[in-house]
Amino acid sequence: MKRSVLLGILLASGAASIAAQAPAAPKVIDILKLKDNLYVLTSSTPGNAATFSGGNVAVFITDGGVTLVDDKLAGWGQAVLDKVKSVTDKPITRIINTHTHGDHTGNNGFFGASVEIVAQANTKTNMEKMDAFKGEGAKFLPKKTYTDKLTVGSGKDRIDLYYFGPGHTNGDTFVVFPEHRILHTGDMFAWKDAPFCDRNNGGSCVSLPRTLQLAIAGIKNIDTVIPGHSPMMTPKDLQDFQRFTADLLSHATNEMKAGKSVDEAAASFKVDKYPGYKNERVKAAVQAVYDELKK
Ligand SMILES: [Zn+2]
Repeated sequence: MKRSVLLGILLASGAASIAAQAPAAPKVIDILKLKDNLYVLTSSTPGNAATFSGGNVAVFITDGGVTLVDDKLAGWGQAVLDKVKSVTDKPITRIINTHTHGDHTGNNGFFGASVEIVAQANTKTNMEKMDAFKGEGAKFLPKKTYTDKLTVGSGKDRIDLYYFGPGHTNGDTFVVFPEHRILHTGDMFAWKDAPFCDRNNGGSCVSLPRTLQLAIAGIKNIDTVIPGHSPMMTPKDLQDFQRFTADLLSHATNEMKAGKSVDEAAASFKVDKYPGYKNERVKAAVQAVYDELKK
């Protein structure tokens, strides 16, 4: 999630303003065990300012050290480290940033320049525009980048990174742990609601359905999906989300051609046929499609 958007949500929340006057709550992150050497740091659902720590973080314990996929909001680094230490004595040696947003890259600096930071090349470019990575912060930018596919580690410690095209941003990595048949989607699949397409960072709600289709076709042998900001999902959930985004795109495109306003197009998009889906983000996604098609 973009920092400014997040701030807007926080400011809009009455609970947040009360929390701001009270002493800061202890920063505690929940941890979920998926495998003996693979955990998820959750507390990732936006909206609750007290417990929202940033996106889901995968903690993969390998022979050579711990790899994190994403590292949550700035200020949560110690809480991340405490949870990692609760399950392993090994040091954190690698961080994969799925994309540029501060709720996924916020503690690169906390973990330090000696950790190998990996991201898709466009994400590095996007991160270079962030205040956190200017000047002295530049040493916490990804040093290892790739364009389409990258494998790090081998055997049971292997991790595959894939880029399939624009969507949430223009640099989103899908991270696969082949030994465990687990996929971390970052915010390409964040929640059961309309996607957030960050056009300032090359995101595209017009391209997103096709990018997700390429990911589904290109990544096989998955049992569990770690989404960006929700409880664990299945490959079927990812397929349903892809269809949701394709439906949303075609609906918005048709409504725009018919001369309907964004409000009208958002109101006439029905999420009922997608069980468990919300429509809180539908209007913003429709707006993103309109803005993109207008160009
Ligand atoms: Zn994001």
